[in-house]
Amino acid sequence: MPTVAFLGLGAIGAPMARHLAAQDLGLRVWNRTATKAAAFAASHGALRAGTPAEAARGADIVITCLPVSADVEGLLDGPDGLLAGLAKGSVLVDCTSGDPATSRRIAARLAEHGIDFIDAPVSGGVVGAENAALTIMVGGDAAVLERVRPVLAVFGKLIVHCGAIGAGDAVKAVNNALLALHIWSAAEGLATLKRAGVDPAVALEVINTSSGRSNSSMNLFPERVLTRAFPRTFRLALLDKDVGIAAAVAREHKLPTPILQMTAELYRAAHLAMGEEVDHVEVVKWVEQLTGTVIQ
Ligand code: NDP
Repeated sequence: MPTVAFLGLGAIGAPMARHLAAQDLGLRVWNRTATKAAAFAASHGALRAGTPAEAARGADIVITCLPVSADVEGLLDGPDGLLAGLAKGSVLVDCTSGDPATSRRIAARLAEHGIDFIDAPVSGGVVGAENAALTIMVGGDAAVLERVRPVLAVFGKLIVHCGAIGAGDAVKAVNNALLALHIWSAAEGLATLKRAGVDPAVALEVINTSSGRSNSSMNLFPERVLTRAFPRTFRLALLDKDVGIAAAVAREHKLPTPILQMTAELYRAAHLAMGEEVDHVEVVKWVEQLTGTVIQ
């Protein structure tokens, strides 16, 4: 089995890395806040690296899972950077929900050193990561994907080659733009129905067996909104970033996409008003404020 390093033990990175630690992969972990990496290494039998370079040294596959592509790009240079540790012939697998343009730039930088790159964002949320049931959407050389597939299969259930470098990022961004739109539109719809005298639970019972249903109406609203639980699993700031990427890709290709652009604007405003730590589903509270209606 290859040797693997994992950088970025956040909400989704940590459960992904846990599955790798349980395999014979000599896993090393690095995290910006070093105490998190130390705690992870102690609990899961992984090696803690002091720097990105130390994590990458001797690793065949280095996996990153950070908020944005620019964070990954920011780890490349300097004596402690990834390029100081990555060996020729190794692969950087970026599981960040990134942006295609930066991924292409990172891939070009690595190629100068004989290092391969694929963008490999994931979907399925923290629960999918905990159950090793993530969908992984990959951009880059199909032959490179085949080299790393057994390692990705440790935490992924469905691994799809989407196209050239940046294609995985683009698919992820559009998927999440649809998620964002479904949450917002379901919130507006349910607030409207509540004001029209319909209990939101009754409305969802109908919608969820009818053509207006979505993952948001079927899972997020019953489990997180009606219960007022709003667990923090995926930050609104990250969903704002994803919708912004989807809107930017559409603009790059000069497509008229009014709904996509408007969704990006709405999420940007909600993110700015609600801050960095709130969960994505908490955007419903923003719609509740706008409509003066609590969906309960
Ligand atoms: P978190 O905010 O929970 O964690 C981010 C991680 O990145 C932390 O380990 C953090 O370190 C590290 N980090 C942040 N900024 C930097 C930086 N500049 N340099 C180095 N390390 C940095 O994010 P998630 O784990 O939720 O998300 C990670 C990626 O996965 C994102 O792109 C997100 O969109 C995507 N994703 C998340 C899902 C989810 O359900 N959470 C689902 C699908 C995709 P530190 O501990 O020091 O803060």
